Amino acid sequence: MSGHFNTRELFHLPNNITYLDGNSLGPLPKKALQGVEKRMREEWGEMLITAWNKAGWMGEPVTLANRLGRLIGARTDTTVLGDTLSIKVFQAVSAGLHLNKGRKKILSDTGNFPTDLYMADGLAKLSGQGQHLVTVEPQEVENALDEDVAVLMLTHVDYRTGRMHDMADLTEKAHEKGIITVWDLAHSAGAVEVDLSGCNADFAVGCTYKFLNAGPGAPAFIYVRPDLVSKIEPALCGWLGHAAPFEFEPQYRPGLDIERMRVGTPSVLQMASLSAALDAFDGIEMKDVRARAIELGGLFIDLVERDNPDLKLASPRDTHKRGSQVSFHFEHGYGAIQALIERGVIGDFRAPDIMRFGITPLYLDEVDIEHAASQITAVMSTQEWADARWQHRARVT
Ligand SMILES: *Cc1c(COP(=O)(O)O)cnc(C)c1O
Repeated sequence: MSGHFNTRELFHLPNNITYLDGNSLGPLPKKALQGVEKRMREEWGEMLITAWNKAGWMGEPVTLANRLGRLIGARTDTTVLGDTLSIKVFQAVSAGLHLNKGRKKILSDTGNFPTDLYMADGLAKLSGQGQHLVTVEPQEVENALDEDVAVLMLTHVDYRTGRMHDMADLTEKAHEKGIITVWDLAHSAGAVEVDLSGCNADFAVGCTYKFLNAGPGAPAFIYVRPDLVSKIEPALCGWLGHAAPFEFEPQYRPGLDIERMRVGTPSVLQMASLSAALDAFDGIEMKDVRARAIELGGLFIDLVERDNPDLKLASPRDTHKRGSQVSFHFEHGYGAIQALIERGVIGDFRAPDIMRFGITPLYLDEVDIEHAASQITAVMSTQEWADARWQHRARVT
């Protein structure tokens, strides 16, 4: 049982596994099994195409996003589900460039996740009007805000180190220079408190398969500030973002408000698992999840540092600047993570030398943290990381 939450039994956690990788792929919520099966048998199976109306499939990208909105400080009808996070990054940044025509720079930081940088760079080239991506060190972002920046695109919590940007402060400073902000919440949604509305953020995007536990391939989401959305001319003019998809008009007309950020057919089966995953957050406040994650993360750092002088903390020590993952630098980190997985403790490795652990209070408690730390110490003291089997990296690390 979690110390403060009674949610552990809502998840299927395999025997003899301590899972510290919910930051990459959350575990299976037990209700998702029934939810997806019901959707397949009773809805797809029995209702066939009538389920789009009868079972409400067509409206779910908004109705489910509204449930998710509570966790990220987004008001009703400001967020919609669909596609993958990479696509949502493209949509948000292109909308930002359009709103700030004439400005040339997309500003990001060097710690950002590659897909965000690749999508922005590809988009800038596609635009073909001299737009370009500029990256600076995370601590230099504030100094790099100037009036040639169209869009500030940042990942709120750094995927490798857990370093967290101050969203309210950077959004305000960006706005002073007329810059549109795009926040990637991949490692924030379901992990830390986020107040998009309170921060006056312009755009936010994220995925639902990490801390939100909706499963591999679950839909991404995009948030647009309510007073901006009607000004957006979507770059990806999909039929389901059209004002009247079933009029089948030859010309695109953007849909009402957030609906215009839809593209094509939503992933209906995965929305059933997302619905079950969101049930696990019912009655839970993100501030309590956050407080507990800080407690457990602090314990983990103390225990690992106490016994493993070769592991150097890569995450900020200051809890205000750290999200929900704790990472350590270690030259042989890949082998160390493989040896740990063999011992039933699952974390992951991020090149070049990061051992990364997700702290997820809905299903982890002190017992798990202590066990994980003791297994890390065992791997380090026996040098299991040096095993010849780990010399070649698997396709997914
Ligand atoms: C996980 C992650 C992604 C993944 O994008 P997909 O399109 O879902 O594969 C993108 N950006 C960040 C910051 C991430 O952490």
